[in-house]
Order: sequence, then structure tokens, then C-alpha cells
Amino acid sequence: MSVTVSSYKNIVGGEWVDSASGQTMEVLNPATGEAIAEVPRGTKEDADRAVEAAKEALPEWLETTPGERGEALLKLADLLDEHAEELAELESQNVGKPLPAARDEMPVSSDNIRFFAGAARLLEGKASGEYMRGYTSMLRREPLGVVGGITPWNYPLMMAVWKFSPALAAGNTQVLKPAEQTPLTTLRFFQLATEAEILPPGVLNVITGDGVPVGEAIVKHPDVRLVSLTGDVATGKIIARTAADTLKRVHLELGGKAPVVVFDDADPAAVAEGIKVAGYWNSGQDCTAASRIVAGPKIYDKLLEELVPAVESISVGDPAENEELDMGPVISKDQQERVFGFLERAKGATVLTGGESNGSRGFFVKPTVITDVGQEDEIVQREVFGPVVTVQRFADDDQAIAWANDVDYGLAASVWTRDIGRALNAARKLQFGTVWINDHIPLVSEMPHGGYKQSGYGKDLSAYSLEDYTNIKHVMAKID
Ligand code: NAD
Repeated sequence: MSVTVSSYKNIVGGEWVDSASGQTMEVLNPATGEAIAEVPRGTKEDADRAVEAAKEALPEWLETTPGERGEALLKLADLLDEHAEELAELESQNVGKPLPAARDEMPVSSDNIRFFAGAARLLEGKASGEYMRGYTSMLRREPLGVVGGITPWNYPLMMAVWKFSPALAAGNTQVLKPAEQTPLTTLRFFQLATEAEILPPGVLNVITGDGVPVGEAIVKHPDVRLVSLTGDVATGKIIARTAADTLKRVHLELGGKAPVVVFDDADPAAVAEGIKVAGYWNSGQDCTAASRIVAGPKIYDKLLEELVPAVESISVGDPAENEELDMGPVISKDQQERVFGFLERAKGATVLTGGESNGSRGFFVKPTVITDVGQEDEIVQREVFGPVVTVQRFADDDQAIAWANDVDYGLAASVWTRDIGRALNAARKLQFGTVWINDHIPLVSEMPHGGYKQSGYGKDLSAYSLEDYTNIKHVMAKID
């Protein structure tokens, strides 16, 4: 079957433009390994051009009221809803995720945008008043200026939404760089937004290309006031170091290694069903994926009895061939090899199911469950970012919490028990930015998402994210 390769351009200053060098790069469908699109291969020059456009747009955007910015965001949300099916199909093709899963992301994304449209009008400062005789103090919450947003490949459009919605709502202008593997929905969405003239030119610019040079150039640019990254811990560290030279703010949503703490009184069938979704959703390429099960001494065997058939029932294949499939490939050949590398190095571990590819075409890894792993093992300590779940047996509650916390990451965790006191005690002790009780994975626009420890700092979603994109100014007036 022949594949149509579409050609995309960047969006800079409201124009649909090629890269400054004229070079392009291929975008693949990971289910087939075939090229489906060409996008501009950006350089530092493209990043500089985009920052200039964002700077030019800033004065006019600074004059807008929160209500006016909210209005523009509501139009973007409506636009996303109107084109949800097209965007879901594109996302499914580019990321290799099942179409129903891509479809589910669209209303969630437009809800995220609508949340920030409203939240922009409710930004708070603490009290203003007279704190020195003869003076009035007041607080102003102001945008930072030009900000950068750098996104990963696992939820491309949704991650773009998490970056541009609070940034624009707070009154900033932005340069967005999607992941090199998955730029298509971000480009398409902002092509539609540009045609609909929803935002003034230059308020939102999208440039494609590799992390180095394009992402790096945004981080180095002296006129960019904040860079928000969702990506790998190693990338976050590089960005934080690079940003130190211009002392710009960084906002880092990094990797995770979420523990699933299963106490003996939990319902093993419900836990297995939960892990079947949360461990393998998006082929396990989720920063909050339920990747590390620590189960009580009495429930451990029963849980495995439920979990292995549940995982074996996950259907895997090319989403284009069958809409009903549960899981597609991982994102790339590199990622597939990386996942298999983890499995090969896990000496002494037992692979209960999975551990291999699913045919010769595309970048597949079968849903995998591993036992006989130790707390110090690489497969327990490091984020695999693939459909691989480890299961360990703990001796008592203290060991469960100690193991759960004993990783460098701190993004998300879940605890499963019918005992509310035990659940709340665990939630208190778990060092993670989100803790679920008797579930694992749902997020809502109103609540913050972000890490502890090496999962980063700064929050996405919620009013806290909006605040991250602002400065607080104290204005003090002599009144007598
Ligand atoms: P990545 O760090 O390789 O890439 C993320 C983005 O950073 C890409 O756009 C890339 O081009 C860019 N980049 C790479 N090097 C750069 C540099 N030196 N300077 C500037 N930009 C650079 O991550 P990935 O592989 O695309 O995404 C997977 C990672 O993202 C996983 O670790 C996952 O846990 C994490 N993630 C975290 C969250 C969260 O909310 N915490 C959500 C989704 C994914």
C-alpha cells in the first residue's frame, strides 16, 4: 500500500513558513515504520525568528484583559472540538495509539483549555493595604513575557495544550516546540487557529526540529523568560543547567516510576483491571504509568493470578487495521530497543508474559509482566517508558512505603486498600505529586499535576500552573 506523505510548515508571526535553511525532516508512523509527513528541520535561526515574532506580539497582547484572553482560549477549545476527529486520527497515526484512545484525549484537552480560559479571570494576589503609615501597597500579578514550551511525544496535542493554555491565559506570548517524532497535531491545530484568526499573529509560534538545536536555542535565548519542558529527567537537567546562564525560570514535568501499593485487603480483580489500563495505556509511555507493583504477602499470588490473564487479554497491533485494539506500538525503533535493553539486563527476573516483539513490522513490544526483581534492580529503579510492569512482594506496610519511595522519581503513586485509615496514612507518607486511592491514572483540569524529587518542579493544570507563568509585583504608593 502506498502512503501519502503530507508536508507541514511552521507557524511564526501568524505565517505558515518553511525552516530558514529550507531543510525538512521525516515523521514516521510507528505502527509501520513508514514516513507519513515532512516537517521543517529547524535551527537556531528558526528559534530566534520565533522569539522575535513572540516579542513583537507582546505589547498588544499585554493590553488584553483576562476576559479577552479567556475569550480567545474558548474559541481555541471550540476549534479543537470541531476538528476533534481529524486531530484524533492524526494523533493515532503519528503516535501509534488506538483511535478511541486518541479520541478520548480531545475533549479532555478542550476542557483543559476552557479551565484556563476561566482561571485567567480569577488570578489572586494576597491582600493589598497599608503596611507602613502613609503608604498603600498593592500587588500586581503580571505575565513573564515571552515563554518557551517544549513537549514530548507521548500525548503531543494534550501536552501542547498544557503549555499554551496557562501561558497565554496569564498574558504571555509563546514559542512552542513539539517533539521531533510527533509534531503533526500541534502544527495542524495551530494552522487551523491561524486560518480562523483566533490569536493575534506572533502570540503563539510553533517550530519543529530536534531538541538540539531548536529546544536548546529557546532555552539559551536571553529574551525568553521561562521554559516549560515535559520530557525526560536527563533533558530537564540539561535545560536547568542551560537556563542558569540567563537565570530564566524553568518549569519541569519529567519522568516517573509510579508505584502501585497493594495491601492485603485490596480486591485483587479490581487491582488487576486497574493495572491492565494504567500500566499499558499508550503502550506504557505515560509518565504516571502504573509500572511498579508492590503487593502484600497474602495478596501477591492472587494478584498475579488475576493480572497475568488480564494483561494477556490486551490486544496489540496497528491501530489503522483495527479500531478495537487496546494497544499500538511504542514510538520508535530506538524506544523499542531501549525497552528490550531493560529486559535483557534484568538478569534473574522472571518474565511471566510478554518480553518480545509482535511481528516484524512497526515498533511493537508485547505487554510484559516481570517478577523476581529486587529493589536495587535497574528495571525497578529506572523509567522504562514502555508496556512493562514489575511486581514485588513486600513483608509489611513499612517496607511497602519504603520501597515505593525508594526511587529518584516522585510524580505519581497509587495505594489500594479497603481500609481508609491505611490509605490516608500511605497517601501522607508517599513522596509523589499525585497519590490515587483505589485507582491509578485519572487527572482533572482543576488539580495540579507535577513531581516531587527528580520528577521536576512546577505544576501543570490547575491555578498553580497559571501562577507559575506570572510574576508578582509590589507597588507602594506614598499617600500623604
Ligand atoms: P525528551 O526529554 O527526549 O524530549 C522532550 C522534548 O525535549 C522534545 O521536544 C525534545 O526535542 C526536547 N529536547 C531534547 N533535548 C533537549 C535539549 N537539550 N534542550 C531543549 N530541548 C530538548 O523526552 P521524550 O522522550 O520526548 O518524552 C518522554 C519523557 O517525558 C518521559 O521521561 C516521560 O516520563 C516524560 N513525561 C513527563 C510528563 C509529566 O507530566 N511529568 C508527561 C509526559 C511525559
